[in-house]
Amino acid sequence: MTESPNTKKPLRPRVAMPYQDPMVRRHNFQEIALGYTREMAMQEASRCLQCKKPQCVTGCPVEVPIKDFIGRIVKGDMDEAYRIIKTASSLPAVCGRICQQEKQCEGKCILGAKGQAIGIGHLERYVADHFIADTPCAQITGGNACAMRHPGLKVACIGSGPSSITAAGYLASRGIAVDVFEALHEPGGILVYGIPAFRLPRDIVAKELNALRQLGVNFLTNCVGGRTVTVNGLLEQGYQAVFIGVGAGLPTLLRVPGDNLIGVFSAKEYLARVNLGQAYAFGNDDTPGLSGKNVTVFGAGNVAIDVACTAVRLGAETVHIVYRRTREEMPARQEEIKHAEEEGVQIELLAAPIQFNGNAEMWLESVSLQRMRLGEADASGRRRPEPVEGACYELKTDLAVVALGSTPNPGLLESTPGFARNEQGYIVVNEQTGETSIPNVFAGGDFVIGAATVILAMGAGRRAASEIARRLLPS
Ligand SMILES: Cc1cc2nc3c(=O)[nH]c(=O)nc-3n(C[C@H](O)[C@H](O)[C@H](O)COP(=O)(O)OP(=O)(O)OC[C@H]3O[C@@H](n4cnc5c(N)ncnc54)[C@H](O)[C@@H]3O)c2cc1C
Ligand code: SF4
Repeated sequence: MTESPNTKKPLRPRVAMPYQDPMVRRHNFQEIALGYTREMAMQEASRCLQCKKPQCVTGCPVEVPIKDFIGRIVKGDMDEAYRIIKTASSLPAVCGRICQQEKQCEGKCILGAKGQAIGIGHLERYVADHFIADTPCAQITGGNACAMRHPGLKVACIGSGPSSITAAGYLASRGIAVDVFEALHEPGGILVYGIPAFRLPRDIVAKELNALRQLGVNFLTNCVGGRTVTVNGLLEQGYQAVFIGVGAGLPTLLRVPGDNLIGVFSAKEYLARVNLGQAYAFGNDDTPGLSGKNVTVFGAGNVAIDVACTAVRLGAETVHIVYRRTREEMPARQEEIKHAEEEGVQIELLAAPIQFNGNAEMWLESVSLQRMRLGEADASGRRRPEPVEGACYELKTDLAVVALGSTPNPGLLESTPGFARNEQGYIVVNEQTGETSIPNVFAGGDFVIGAATVILAMGAGRRAASEIARRLLPS
């Protein structure tokens, strides 16, 4: 057994997370990971070395005091652990489940070099799931005392994903009224319509949104920023500040012949139909079903894995993920790739689509693939995929889903004159405050940096809200 770098005592392995059996879970939308018990959490926390200079925190984009909250778990003081996390992170139950800890905090944990890093995400999840809030303020901030309301102060958020939820929670818990304008009929952003319930159960997000409602945050759905309401119109109506967190909802398309056939979807549409439209319950619900027999997914990130595992649950006979590079380059979490393969998803590496083929009625029947190999490294340092001459083949496919990323929708920018934009057309903001070139109009999350992560969106929402609060509240 390897020794601990600090104590020279033998290193214990990480307490394993219990999971649903793959053959059971492939037929349901219940959460894959079952969560630690109290005993498991305390045992795992007791492996932490309580380092003098904890490296884990340097890997956390919002600098959660990791060592301190883990120290509280060891003592069994789960409520204090929650309060400590809440000083930095607004959505611990979400982050504990879907943050890429292995690339962030756990990737820096000193134990990772010699053995297994502390299961920081698993511990964060345990603490968040078991905290029972006495007041909505405690749910949002970890503290029980709600701030006095400041009559006359109001802020608008456009979009209701993690960036806006974080901004709204920060401001509402400081007594500022917040109205959130959401284009869809349900708030929550990708947490609700993108990430499937088997990775992020809906009640977790609902709990956060309900706490915000109880603090007075007003969600106005079916309200499209740039059309139903405009940024300048909101300022004229008396909102002292506007935060824009409308995400990156414009899907990147494959642009190969046949991509207009019936049965070719973008990941956003496919997942929204299932998660938001409940396409799996067609008959009882209005959204037509999407149960392809032979499903092919293009892409290699978490979105592609989410689509593939959703297709498995919808009853597909075969599900392939097609990727033009090798497994090492797949950006998805290793754990998610493993889970998908356990459920029967097949990964077709070094292959790229060249065209979709359909029948006379325009229904998709197959996809033609080009075999690839890795050539010289390109400017990004990654080896460039190159076609292998003459090596083409067909894959039977009646449902194809393109999960190649997405970019911000320019609609809102185009409806508001005066926003400074960069060369890629993205909105420019002050890095410290999130303020745009229009005074008192802030922006953050995927809308500013392109499709990224929940924790980065939350960090941006928090930075902007803290600047707004600094300007609006008496010091
Ligand atoms: C399938 C999938 C899986 C993912 N998995 C992970 C993961 O495991 N870990 C991780 O960290 N990240 C993951 N991500 C990325 C993460 O979800 C995003 O980075 C994050 O949600 C961005 O937050 P946001 O607040 O910027 O925007 P979003 O969550 O995109 O929310 C934007 C909201 O604004 C609304 N909107 C858009 N336009 C308008 C308008 N004009 N007016 C009003 N409202 C508007 C949208 O309907 C949406 O509700 C995943 C993304 C997807 C799609
Ligand atoms: S989580 Fe890892 S790096 Fe952080 S204090 Fe514990 S042992 Fe040290």
